[in-house]
Amino acid sequence: MRRIEADYNRSADTHLIPVDMPALADIALYFKDESSHPTGSLKHRLARSLFLYALCNGWIGEGMTIVEASSGSTAVSEAYFARMLKLPFIAVVPRSTAPEKIAAIEFYGGRCHFVDRPGDAYAESQRLADELGGHYMDQFTYAERATDWRGNNNIAEAIFAQMQREPCPVPRWVVCGAGTGGTSATIGRFARYNRHETRICVADPEASVFHRHWADRSVQTVDGPTSRIEGIGRARVEPSFIPGVVDRMIAVPDVASIAAARVLSRRLGRRCGGSSGTNLWACALLATEMAEAGERGSIVSILCDHGDRYASTYFSDAWLVENGFEVAPWEARLDAFFTEGRLPA
Ligand SMILES: *Cc1c(COP(=O)(O)O)cnc(C)c1O
Repeated sequence: MRRIEADYNRSADTHLIPVDMPALADIALYFKDESSHPTGSLKHRLARSLFLYALCNGWIGEGMTIVEASSGSTAVSEAYFARMLKLPFIAVVPRSTAPEKIAAIEFYGGRCHFVDRPGDAYAESQRLADELGGHYMDQFTYAERATDWRGNNNIAEAIFAQMQREPCPVPRWVVCGAGTGGTSATIGRFARYNRHETRICVADPEASVFHRHWADRSVQTVDGPTSRIEGIGRARVEPSFIPGVVDRMIAVPDVASIAAARVLSRRLGRRCGGSSGTNLWACALLATEMAEAGERGSIVSILCDHGDRYASTYFSDAWLVENGFEVAPWEARLDAFFTEGRLPA
């Protein structure tokens, strides 16, 4: 506990970056830059919370192997904390996982264990943990409860505190994605607990089950091709996704998310990941609606991870062509949003 708290004490909060929208004088847009955590994404907060929760529950102790089902950011962040606690760490990942990600997990001393189908990772993680006398962290179950939703400098409390000196300090909307669902649960609960007027919008890939489940709670899974936007959008409704705290869901095509990640990267002068693009697309829709209704206010969203992780995908023209993503018309629509203040239909 002391090691994790000392690490936290050495860290600074992440920046809340204003995004200029000169065409919309009455609406302000901000992105909370979670890419500036030591492990490069918002999963740094989750990993810290999961380790503290597991330690307090007596689930992990000296020498125990930590196992997680994750092919991405969570595994990287958990490997960082496992190394801090001198615990072995194994990420159970699909065989198709990009070599850059495997390298990032291994950089922090973690190891990868491969499964053939992504859906097998959950059961295989549990089996492996049982076999090794270790602990399966299970981000998809515990994300919504490991974080102190009423405060303790969670992401929501940090956002509201950093907004205090802004012209419209209480956001009209907070826009985030859902992977585990933990971020939307924390922000939604915090906003309601503090009786803010803020509403929570989840920007969800079209291929994801979450927006379908939100509209019809009997829908639990979706078949077909999965989204290419890493970190968000799932084929099964994860236990940490709490639909009741979400006021609105916006389904975003992958091509729009990728185009938006590229536009946002150009406007901020730094590369942002795909799910930040998904967020921006939803922000542009909400800002357009607010402008049409003559509303004044602010919108806050999240820069979830660093775009350098996607140099050979979303930011590679060859990759876009190979995967059939024609981003130009979507980038043009977003550029028009910024110059005219309306996202063209
Ligand atoms: C996990 C993740 C999200 C979604 O956050 P959750 O709290 O898990 O819902 C968004 N973007 C990226 C890059 C992520 O890794």
